[in-house]
Formats: sequence, C-alpha cells, structure tokens
Amino acid sequence: MAKGKSDRSKLHPATRIVTASRSYAEHGMVNPAVYRASTITFPDVETLHNRNQPYLYGRRGTPTSQAFETAVAELEGGHNAKACPSGLAAISTALLAFLRAGDHLLMVDTVYQPARQFCDTILKGLGIETTYYDPLIGKGISGLTRPNTRVVYCESPGSQTMEVQDIAAIVDAARPAGITVILDNTWSAGHYFKAFAHGCDVSVQAATKYLVGHSDAMLGTVTCNAEAWPRFKDAYENMGMFAGPDDMYLALRGMRTLDVRLERHMKSALAVAEWLRSRPEVETVLHPGLSNAPGHSIWRRDFAGASGLFSVVLKPVAEKGVAAMLDNMELFAMGYSWGGFESLVVPFKPHRTATSWTAKGPCLRLHIGLEDTQDLIADLDAGFDRLAAA
Ligand SMILES: *Cc1c(COP(=O)(O)O)cnc(C)c1O
Repeated sequence: MAKGKSDRSKLHPATRIVTASRSYAEHGMVNPAVYRASTITFPDVETLHNRNQPYLYGRRGTPTSQAFETAVAELEGGHNAKACPSGLAAISTALLAFLRAGDHLLMVDTVYQPARQFCDTILKGLGIETTYYDPLIGKGISGLTRPNTRVVYCESPGSQTMEVQDIAAIVDAARPAGITVILDNTWSAGHYFKAFAHGCDVSVQAATKYLVGHSDAMLGTVTCNAEAWPRFKDAYENMGMFAGPDDMYLALRGMRTLDVRLERHMKSALAVAEWLRSRPEVETVLHPGLSNAPGHSIWRRDFAGASGLFSVVLKPVAEKGVAAMLDNMELFAMGYSWGGFESLVVPFKPHRTATSWTAKGPCLRLHIGLEDTQDLIADLDAGFDRLAAA
C-alpha cells in the first residue's frame, strides 16, 4: 500500500507503478472507484464559503482523477499532474499555460504534426511566434533563443523519424534564461525516460498510447515540477479542462501493467528492427536502440529502455509496391495512434521546415505489439514478397 513519499522513493520503478495511488481505493478494494460527479455538496454554509473540504465540483477533481494524476506524477517523477481529454489537448493546454501574446516559442522540427498545426494556427493567431529547430541541435539551441523566448518544446525521440534529443544540453541553455522546457514524453511512457531527473519543467504524454495501452480510450497528461505547477494548474482550471472518469480509470488500470508490457514491446521491437536491418529492401532502420540511429548514444546515456515504436526507410521502390505490401498484411493493421497490444504499420512522409529530409525511399512507421515476433516477421516477410512481385 501507499506509504509516505520518502519510503516510496526507495522502491524500484516497477513496484512504484503497481503501488502508486493505491490509498485512493476504499473498503479493501485494490482499485479506486470511478466517481462520476458534477455537483459535489457541502454540509453547511461555513464549509461552502471556506471551501473547506477535499472535493468542490466535478471539474475540479474527484478521488478518481486524483488517483490517476497522482500515479502519473509519481511515474514521471514530477510534482503533480493533470489529465486532459487527449494528448493533443495536453500539448495545447501546456503551451497556452506558458505563452502570452508577443512571446516566442522554440519548437522541435520533428514534433507530432497536429502540434505543429496548433502552433501555426492558434498560437500564431494569438501573436505567439514559433521557430522550428533541428532536433539534434543540442546546446546550439542557445543560438536561437531571444529575449522573448518563453518555451523550448522537445519531443524525443521525434515523431516518425525518431531522432533523440540531448535534453540535458537544451535544459542547460534554457534554464539560465528562465525558459520553460516542455517535453512530449509519450514514446517512453514516462517509464524509460525521466523528464524531471533530466531537468525538464513539464512533461506531456498522449496517455492514449502506452498508459491506456489497449487502444480504447483517449487521454493526455501534463506533469509539472513544483515551479511550473501553479501556473499550469491555473491555466488548466481557467480553460475548463478535465478528462472523463472512465478514461482515467482505464489509464490507471493500464498503468499497472506498463512495466511488463513495455519490456515485451521493447524486446519484440528490437528483434523486428534487427531483422528489418538485414533485409535488402531496407535502406535504414530508425530505431534509437540500434547503433546506427541518430542520437543512439544519447539514448543509451539517458533512457532505461525502448518502447515498441520505430520506423524504416525503404530503398526507392514504386508506390504500388508499398501498397501491395501494406494492403495485404495479416497481423499488421494500418492505423494511426499506437501503444496498444496490437501491431501497426503506416506509411509516412516527413514534414520538415527547419531541417530537410533527404532519404529518397518511402518511410514506414511500425508499432510492434504483443504478438509473437516470429509471426510478425513472417507477416513482414510475405509483405516484402508482394512488394517485389508488384
Ligand atoms: C498520438 C500522439 C499525440 C496526441 O495524442 P492524442 O491522444 O491522439 O491527441 C501527441 N504526441 C505524440 C508523440 C503522439 O504520438
């Protein structure tokens, strides 16, 4: 059961995931209740005026939301966390919390595409300027900061092309200038990369992916250090942000098995990545756990593991070859999102503005699920046969 914070910090990550927030369960149950609440009543006028009770109004939090958010904050190693209705809502709420009209944002060029869209439309309309930067810039980020730069946003590894960022170098440049560092930590699920131990101020996750872990709920999380928390919490509340209790329950349930799931995703994805690297159809495998990947040495330095998502660049081939491969896969389904138990593949074209993507061949992003890797490799093998025949 949950103990005091000082005790818990001695526990290993897998134990903490299983035991976090358990004090929110009542009556001997292992799991907390799913509280659906709008109205929360007060016993008397004095309590109503003084707000002197733990729960005030559905949107302001319930034992269900607190159980989930406390567990997320513990997983990430942050001060406190809030849940949003999607990963993108978590990103937009975090950015809006720390940026005002006239401010400048440094945004990684490999950011999740809908987040780029948010910057180029909503933030632009609010008079907030975005400069995109090379994910491998490291300490060179200091050459891009301006007096009005308020946020450096990182995503590591980068969406689709998997570049690993030197977060410590970016934090070192940002911190003396009073710039808030926000990280999209979805790939590591907060389990294999500890954002706060590496000096980030805010860690955002699409909990939709590995925390939920079963492809059935959409959810985002924003975890903050103690310094960033009050400002974020105010913005979150002022924007009326909240997440549904059933979705938070599902994510907390998913988190209990995060360690064991991620270990299997890691092992299987590395096995499939190694196999792909040996294939004549493949130009490059973009998996930070492989020695030739951009940022591999930083991944080794900073990460405790790898999840199940990576990409490959194929040698140049006609589009109908790729379609013949992907249209007839038996186990790999085509779909966005990822982080569930199932394997997925999607073709993609990298969108870059600060850097350029020079690879000539088509790119595929794979999510390796919990199936047996021999079956997955056989499925890909048959796909390459179709590609060659087309
Ligand atoms: C999917 C994803 C998001 C957005 O999450 P949603 O829950 O789909 O809104 C954000 N960042 C990354 C890295 C993602 O993969």
